[in-house]
Amino acid sequence: MNLLALRKLRYGLYVVSSRRRDRFNGLIANGVSQVSAVPANFVVSINKENLTHEFIKASKVLSFSVLSKNTPLSFIGRFGFNSGREIDKFKGVSYKIGKTGAPIVLDNTLAYVEANVINEADLGTHTIFIAQMVDSDIIREGEPMTYDYYSEVKRGPTSKKSSLYIEQIAVTKAQKYQCRRCFYIYDPEFGDPDGNVSPGTSFELLPDDWKCPICRASKNYFDKLEGTE
Ligand code: FE
Repeated sequence: MNLLALRKLRYGLYVVSSRRRDRFNGLIANGVSQVSAVPANFVVSINKENLTHEFIKASKVLSFSVLSKNTPLSFIGRFGFNSGREIDKFKGVSYKIGKTGAPIVLDNTLAYVEANVINEADLGTHTIFIAQMVDSDIIREGEPMTYDYYSEVKRGPTSKKSSLYIEQIAVTKAQKYQCRRCFYIYDPEFGDPDGNVSPGTSFELLPDDWKCPICRASKNYFDKLEGTE
């Protein structure tokens, strides 16, 4: 078996949202796929530990928003590295309520689909929800984010994942640091555009109150990435 084969698969990146009574929650997911055209059915795979999983189970409705390639890391962090059990992820986020009653995130969204859950399959760690489209729309034009683009370019490459970046590391010798919480890699060559840190800024020179652009962890959550010196 060669698990590298799985890296050849391509996925989008979505905010999957649902509700339970008057509470909304959503998360970042890449396990979303259209599986039939008429009627339009989708599979949405959600980890059982997530609050959104409980919400979908309870309400049988969900929406997913197709994220733009320009989505800032802080937005992905808000939905992807926080729990709705601790924060209200929808606070300060622009959204609307769809025909199913599911909330639909509109920030950084190119298009959305909302759907009724018509079946599900238990995978142990995850549930696959099979959902039939009720409504959909385009919010803005742009290029969709892919899971690949997020993990290789936006989040930062890992030396294990990308031979392209191993070459770059050899050339730049810039010391990279990695967040222990969300695995974001700070690369001095690129700085942190979302946090107004200009390219060429070394990790040591980041302000003390600088936060991980994805999960908001502080600087002491970062370790030197081996093999980059
Ligand atoms: Fe982080």
